[in-house]
This record gives sequence, C-alpha cells and structure tokens, in this order.
Amino acid sequence: MHETEAVADARRFMEICNGCRYCEGFCAVFPAMELRRDFAAADLSYLANLCHGCQGCYYACQYAPPHEFGVNVPRAMANVRAESYEAYAWPQPLAKLFQRNGLVVSLVLAAGIALILFLSILLRSTQMFTMWPVQPGAFYAVIPYQAMVWTGTLTFGFSLFALFMGARNFWLDAGSSKVPARAVGEALWDVLTLKYLGGGGHGCNDNDERFSMTRRYLHHAMFYGFFLCFASTSTATVYHHFLGWQAPYPLFSLPVVLGAVGGVGLLVGTTGLFAMKFTADPVPSSKNLLGMDVALLVLLAAAAATGLVLLAWRATGGMGVLLAVHLGVILALFLVLPYSKMVHGVYRSAALLRHAAERTYP
Ligand code: SF4
Ligand code: SF4
Repeated sequence: MHETEAVADARRFMEICNGCRYCEGFCAVFPAMELRRDFAAADLSYLANLCHGCQGCYYACQYAPPHEFGVNVPRAMANVRAESYEAYAWPQPLAKLFQRNGLVVSLVLAAGIALILFLSILLRSTQMFTMWPVQPGAFYAVIPYQAMVWTGTLTFGFSLFALFMGARNFWLDAGSSKVPARAVGEALWDVLTLKYLGGGGHGCNDNDERFSMTRRYLHHAMFYGFFLCFASTSTATVYHHFLGWQAPYPLFSLPVVLGAVGGVGLLVGTTGLFAMKFTADPVPSSKNLLGMDVALLVLLAAAAATGLVLLAWRATGGMGVLLAVHLGVILALFLVLPYSKMVHGVYRSAALLRHAAERTYP
C-alpha cells in the first residue's frame, strides 16, 4: 500500500482518535488502533478493511464537521479501502479494472450474455428457441454439458486463484502475525455473524443518528443467499457426476430448493441494499466506492432474478433463451469477482483474522 492523500487523511484522523478514544467500544477498528502509535500506509489499509462503515463513530464524534478538525473516520476508511483493492489486486495489470468499475462490470455483463447466446446458437442452431419439456438433460440441449462445465470451471478457478493472491498480498503487507487456532474460530464467528454490522447490538447509523439493524439483516440475506446458491450448484454437480441424475431437477429436489431460497435471499438483500444507497447520508460515505457498490449489487441481483425467472418459465418455449441469459450473467459474475466490490469480503475476513490474532499475540 502506497502513501496517498486518502492515507494521509486517515492517518490524521487516527492520530486524533488515538488521543480521544471515545469510540473504543464501537467496533474492532479502535482496539486495533490502540495497539499502534504510528500508522504506516499498510496499518491504515488494515484498519480500513476492518471498518464495516457502520458510521457510528461519525455521528458520535465531537470533532466531526463542522468542527475545525473535520474528523470523518467512515469516509476516510472507505477511501483507503477503495485504494487498497487496486493495490492488492492480482495480476497487477488488471488492477485498473477497479477504476470506473461500474462501466467495467456493465460491459462484462453485456458481453457475457451476448457470448453465451451466440455460443448457444452456434452449437445448437435455432433449437434453443423452441419448446423444451422439463425432462432430464433438457438444459444440455441448449448448451452442451462440456461447454458449460469447462467455461464455469476455468473462469471460476481463475477468479478464486486471483482472490487468493489478493488476500495473500493484503496479509503480507499488513505484517506477519502468528494465528492461533482460537483466533481462527473467533474470526470465523465474526465473519459469519457479521458481528460489526450490529454496532454492539443496536445496529448501524444507516441514514442518520438513529440506529437500525436493517443493513445487517440485508447483508445476512445477501451473504447466506449467495452461499445457498453455491450449495445448489455444488449439489447439482454431485447429482450429475456421482448419481447420474441430469438437470433440470424436480421442483422439490435439493438443488432447486436451495437455489430458490438462496435466489430469493440474494434478491431481497441486494435490492434492499441498493435502495439504501439512495437514502444514506452522503457525508460519511465515499463516492469512490459508490459505482463499485452499485455495480456488484446489480450483478448479484441479476444473477438471482434470471435464475428465478428461469425456474418459473423453464417448461415454456422461452427456456433456451432464459437459460442462456442466466448463464451469461453467471459467466460475467465469475469473470469480475476479483475485480469487483466482492473483494471486500475477502479482505475484511483477512483483517478480522489478523485482529483476532493480534488480540492474542499483540
Ligand atoms: S471518531 Fe471522534 S469521538 Fe470517536 S475516537 Fe475519533 S475523535 Fe474521538
Ligand atoms: S464506521 Fe463503524 S466500523 Fe468504521 S470505524 Fe467507525 S464505528 Fe468502526
């Protein structure tokens, strides 16, 4: 992580906060800050990724604007976070995709849908526009199974590796630290419960000084919805490879139930969080993250919506086109994963692990 204007701003605020310490019970950022006297750029990147943007410290701060100190920790941390995504991206030439991220994601989404539609027509001619009854193997009459599996495996495999390398870059920059088993358990709990979106039990300051749990609940819906969709795909893979059962599966089969519940959760979470972007107080937010935030929410919502529409209309003549559009959205999601706001989950989890570790070995 390099010295920048955003890093200098965050350092100035952390030096004021370290003298004040009024917010030390708010979240993990302030106890981690108190373990430090100096704030190198890497320390500030670590603290920024530990910040969940609950905005509690902004509304509680006696030095916030219009005070001459102008302390605005949530905005400063969000600005450093946005820069850290680019700094740790792998491979580095692709880090530029974080700039104008909304446009990048939109273009990849359009290209993903167009590519799958084109491939379907190329490989299956006009068969995809005709009626396909819901019978085992019907999806592969639209797109051959091998093409579907290899495209998904290669793109998702690359993205997972790029995310791993980004997390490694973040971890090395934040400084090595022993990680006891207890710290892994604590960090996992903090991640799975989204503990710091709870603001100590009363929630975040979503719009103003009033506390609310809405953001936390919507994040839960999105987070667990995403994992249920992933579980649905994994179950379908086991069905296909080990049991010889071919998609599409019956309405009350495990892959369909997991996918439907996950899709609804993902759709509710993403649309709710999208709506909150337009009611939130802009002063403690960072405009540097807005495009990235909105792009990922739209992409995830599109993945959920196209999957649910496909489920509802899979026994009609539109099945071929709906399947191609859904797979195009999923392809776009796989491609942009390491160059989208999705990285915040990886870096925040790594920061929480480091925080749990340094509480044990300061
Ligand atoms: S945000 Fe304000 S009130 Fe909170 S610790 Fe910093 S200076 Fe003190
Ligand atoms: S915005 Fe919330 S999570 Fe971030 S530093 Fe302030 S209190 Fe902590």
